[in-house]
Amino acid sequence: MDTLSEISFLNQVNRMFDKAAAFTEHPKGLLRQISLCNSVYHMEFPLVRDDGSIKVIKAWRAEHSQHKLPVKGGIRFAPTVNEDEVMALASLMTYKCAIVNVPFGGAKGGVQIDRREFSSSEIERLTRRLTFELLRKNFIGPGIDVPAPDYGTSAREMAWILDTYTTLSHDPLDALACVTGKPVGLGGIRGRTEATGRGAFYGIREACASADDMAGLGLDPGLEGKTVVVQGLGNVGYHTAKYLHEGGARIIGLAEYEGAIYNPDGVDLESVVDHRKSTGLILDYPGAKNLECSADALELPCDILVPAALEGQINVENADRIQAKIIGEAANGPITADADEKLLEKGVLIIPDIYLNAGGVTVSYFEWLRNLSHVRFGRMNKRFEQRTNRRIIQALSDAAGVTITPEQVDELAAGADEVDLVDSGLEETMITAYEEIRELKQRHVTDLRTAAFIGAIDKVAVSYREMGIFP
Ligand code: NAD
Repeated sequence: MDTLSEISFLNQVNRMFDKAAAFTEHPKGLLRQISLCNSVYHMEFPLVRDDGSIKVIKAWRAEHSQHKLPVKGGIRFAPTVNEDEVMALASLMTYKCAIVNVPFGGAKGGVQIDRREFSSSEIERLTRRLTFELLRKNFIGPGIDVPAPDYGTSAREMAWILDTYTTLSHDPLDALACVTGKPVGLGGIRGRTEATGRGAFYGIREACASADDMAGLGLDPGLEGKTVVVQGLGNVGYHTAKYLHEGGARIIGLAEYEGAIYNPDGVDLESVVDHRKSTGLILDYPGAKNLECSADALELPCDILVPAALEGQINVENADRIQAKIIGEAANGPITADADEKLLEKGVLIIPDIYLNAGGVTVSYFEWLRNLSHVRFGRMNKRFEQRTNRRIIQALSDAAGVTITPEQVDELAAGADEVDLVDSGLEETMITAYEEIRELKQRHVTDLRTAAFIGAIDKVAVSYREMGIFP
């Protein structure tokens, strides 16, 4: 248990699970099977550092549920990683996949390091050794367990995992599908890097579109003009902020671990990123007020608060001071279970992590499909669509007697590229899942998180029942 959590992260997830399970009629044994983490592999292995010294590295991979295979989940590099956290995150992955109808079980991996203390070549050796350890125990493979990026990892680490797996495994045909979030040149898919933030944007947009829900918060429907504070300017936080801004919202506060900045008139995201690159700090951004204590940003007055860093950031200690009307959980587990109850009592609309950050695993699923099918999405149909569209435009313009310029025809007739198809699949997934959750929320007269858990529990229960193990 860390200082910010009232109970351990895993217990928090299970408490949220139990709250939702009470709305279902599944047998106790089945609910227990669904909530428990099936397998956990704890590794300790040596890393020879650049100076010749040896550091023993602690790492874990948890496979929460094999009701569908492969299991899927990111690998996190952070000093706070521990077994409880990895099991909690693996559990969330199972529910997340069920909510967005991605046919995977949940998993998660973590390495207990502060990556800023390691050189690139040390991180490479560590990642390759981790892959070797996972392969040795059958904890990685296209049909077994497929990692992806998470906090502290990126496409670069996924490329090392792929290279190591390919070298050691006897599965040359499908090896590309052993990991997702790879660079595009190595079998990755266009749109994966931004997928989690893009998905979070779609989820927040859907929530804000409901006139009834917004009226209950004293807000107008839509994103236009809504004020936003984002904690964590990494992959997820940056992309969520970027798309919210493009969708009409105003970014007024940004927090990183070294501090936060605030300007009620709005800050320009790209120039903040440039400022941080050149100075090494988010602080002292021209025109914005500095908040030396980064966590104070969570308490700023705003319409939408997006925690996109780590778990337990909103807890019993600061929950009463949160002023946001909507919290979009882009990070995993940013609100503790006790804080969740306090915020719900205050009437805050919480868009839960198990739905909101599912864009990453959704596009990872598309990447996995692409790797197994060995063909880029759009390759077979793009030109065909283009030709069909041209014929339709020509026929309509002839019939209507209007002239359409060649440039207009090109624009109207364009066939879908891979990135268009990925984005369309992601948007469809996030909209459909939100509709399902909102319907469950209304049917059971509960909050969005509990509704999302109810939907996930029901879907996983159906899988177990179909296996014939449970009545
Ligand atoms: P990241 O490493 O790219 O970025 C995290 C950022 O948060 C870093 O810039 C870090 O400096 C900052 N940060 C850390 N502690 C902070 C603090 N106390 N205050 C302010 N900033 C802080 O990680 P990411 O991939 O963006 O992941 C962020 C969260 O989103 C995690 O909870 C992760 O599990 C979740 N998530 C990530 C993905 C994905 O595809 N990457 C998918 C689903 C969920």
